[in-house]
Amino acid sequence: MTARPRILVGGLFHEGHSFSNLTTGWANLTVTRGAELAAVALNAGSILGGAVRALTKAGAEIVGAVSAAAPPGGPIVGDVFRALRDEVADAARATRPDGVFLELHGATAIEGLDDGEGDLLRAVRTAMPPGVPIATALDLHAHPTPAMLSAADVCIACKENPHSDYADAGAKAARMLLSLVAGRPRPVTTAVWMPLILGHRLETAGGPLAEVHAQRRSIEARTPDILDISIYNTTAYLDAAGAGQCVTVTTAGNIDTASAAATELAAALWDRRDAFEGTLTPLDDALSQAASASREGRPLVLGDHGDRVLAGTPGDSTLILRTVLTDWPQLRAAIPVTDPDAARAAAASGIGSVVRLSVGGRLSTDGRPVEADWRVVRHGNGRFVQQGPFHAGLPANLGETVVLETGNVTAIVTSLPGCTQDPEAFVSNGVDPSDYDIVVSKSGYHFRLSFAGVGPCMVVDTPGLSNYRPGLFGYRHRRPCYPEDRIDTPPLTVMHFGGQAATAAPQRVS
Ligand SMILES: [Zn+2]
Repeated sequence: MTARPRILVGGLFHEGHSFSNLTTGWANLTVTRGAELAAVALNAGSILGGAVRALTKAGAEIVGAVSAAAPPGGPIVGDVFRALRDEVADAARATRPDGVFLELHGATAIEGLDDGEGDLLRAVRTAMPPGVPIATALDLHAHPTPAMLSAADVCIACKENPHSDYADAGAKAARMLLSLVAGRPRPVTTAVWMPLILGHRLETAGGPLAEVHAQRRSIEARTPDILDISIYNTTAYLDAAGAGQCVTVTTAGNIDTASAAATELAAALWDRRDAFEGTLTPLDDALSQAASASREGRPLVLGDHGDRVLAGTPGDSTLILRTVLTDWPQLRAAIPVTDPDAARAAAASGIGSVVRLSVGGRLSTDGRPVEADWRVVRHGNGRFVQQGPFHAGLPANLGETVVLETGNVTAIVTSLPGCTQDPEAFVSNGVDPSDYDIVVSKSGYHFRLSFAGVGPCMVVDTPGLSNYRPGLFGYRHRRPCYPEDRIDTPPLTVMHFGGQAATAAPQRVS
């Protein structure tokens, strides 16, 4: 080890939705490289931000490779992925670092490829001499695969949803990386997978996951040689082989302890499998509450559960927009909707003009545009910096964006599905949430963090590609899986990673 370790940092952050009919390309990705990558990360509320701060504090030299991030969405175009993968691997080959830290979501989808992060990690691994450690920290909705856990020496997840602890997870993985750079042996990661889809009630501060995480903390408290336990509630919208729920336990090599802890927590998830059914507020109940409440400058912030860009949908549902416009004229509402054609047409019409336009519902296969006479209020490039705390300091891009008004509705019409979990998506377009009775966010969990100071937050039960119901999707690779298939006793796949090779020993829960 050198006196001052050189750590190559980079990443690919994208949660895939296998059933979106859109793809994710360069236009959707925010890419930073080199010194700019390190400078942005240093102040970011992200996994990479936490890692870069921890590495810097420990005296490491940061070498920026490439970091690419997009909002959740359809599969990344194959050529785009391969270009990014090769750029990270080439940087690892050229810079000969003492260690590598990659910020990965862990549930990306790539056109024509089953396991994008596994492929990326393997490419980085083979680009360097044996023994150079690689660490990553993932979103807890990831699908950690055997290829990922084989290639990475350290692989852990954040623990909270909404993800208030991204930076903590990044910092922890970075510290574990530095211990390997300093000469400690590679830890062993024991993983247990089971075929289970969880669709709702996925917050960790309450409900069934709060109980499972309490059990996790109790195991950690009584078993000090456990370095990390991560519980992966793999996104329901990824159709990948082997995806289910996963628990990983990282130890110095005590695989009996690790296996016992991982299977105990997997059983805790399985035992609660029917407690994850939706208990969301019907839209009319939410609007009725908004109409009867005294606002005092605090709008009711509605998460559009069925059209969550933050779960990978196009963000073009018009259900709430149409309902508010038609049935609730007394409610002033600010609502984002993705529609590049409408944005372009309104921009061409000019600010101050009134133009008859169909808005939204164009990207989803079952969408319903809303036709109206819209006044064009504002036109911009859709770029802003998220204020967080979720992803604070990170740039975001809505593409060409117009603000349109008709009746009681202000529509923020974006060209790209965007990060409307952050109030700055509205403010940067001249829309002050406090002027409205209703503000709609295309998010189901994380908007609660970033809108906490704006007004009360509520998730409404809207239909769409991010409102999981058994039978909604034609899973092909993720089968059999409960509740899509009847499974009485789940097969648990247990594997250990570390040293030279992975080992597998399928077990069954008794
Ligand atoms: Zn997540």
